[in-house]
Amino acid sequence: MKILDLTGNGGAPGPAEAVCSRKACRHGAEWQLLWNNPKIHTPERRKIWLACGEHRAWLEDYLQTRGLWKDTVALNPAGRAS
Ligand SMILES: [Zn+2]
Repeated sequence: MKILDLTGNGGAPGPAEAVCSRKACRHGAEWQLLWNNPKIHTPERRKIWLACGEHRAWLEDYLQTRGLWKDTVALNPAGRAS
């Protein structure tokens, strides 16, 4: 007989913990950078990087330099107003 505990959180990171995608940055994300790599993604596919205010420009520049950047939109964590 198996007993499956479906109620445990298991330590999995919740969606509310949005952290900047910049390497080694632990700041909370304020922006979503939408991008697409036409070499490996279908045209309608959107990958998302999260960026804090400090690294938004750095990450945008990184994507734009490679022709991958599509859009930048503000991140609004559900249920948490800043
Ligand atoms: Zn950052």
